[in-house]
Amino acid sequence: MFSKILVPTDGSPVAQKAAKYAVKLAKETGAKILLLSVIDKRFMVNQSMPAIASPTHLIDTLEGYLMQAAEAYTKEIEKLCKKSNVLVKTLIKTGYPVEEIIKEAEKSKADLIVMGSHGKSALKAVVLGSVTMGVIHKDSRIPVLLVRR
Ligand code: ATP
Ligand code: MN
Repeated sequence: MFSKILVPTDGSPVAQKAAKYAVKLAKETGAKILLLSVIDKRFMVNQSMPAIASPTHLIDTLEGYLMQAAEAYTKEIEKLCKKSNVLVKTLIKTGYPVEEIIKEAEKSKADLIVMGSHGKSALKAVVLGSVTMGVIHKDSRIPVLLVRR
């Protein structure tokens, strides 16, 4: 049924829950998992800020920190894949999450995207997170499976 499942994660409990769901699904269907974490550029550049307010070394430090965090939470899912005999590949990219998710899904010819309805944001009342909204509204034919929080 599925041969490659793209699993975008920001490390939040909902995203990790979605990733675990995806691993089960991959095991059942014999699919491979492509794990993707996007270091969100929106956190790093702010056009309205004068350059002095966002010195390069601070941006590098922040990016390094986010990168390390991403390695840790993707490793958790990699371990689960190995335990479940599911082939996994991990990608950590810097950019805009919606764009990178769709770009990677198309490029790698994923036949399913499994993601969380929500992510890291504390805005609990929002119906769906903006990354989820963006992905389902993009012009793509790849089906999306949402795991609820
Ligand atoms: P918002 O970001 O709009 O304030 P939120 O953080 O609650 O709200 P989203 O960011 O849309 O919600 O997260 C929904 C899902 O999108 C997550 O469960 C995860 O699967 C995916 N996702 C979100 N951010 C990233 C990211 N930076 N890299 C990879 N996947 C992501
Ligand atoms: Mn988010």
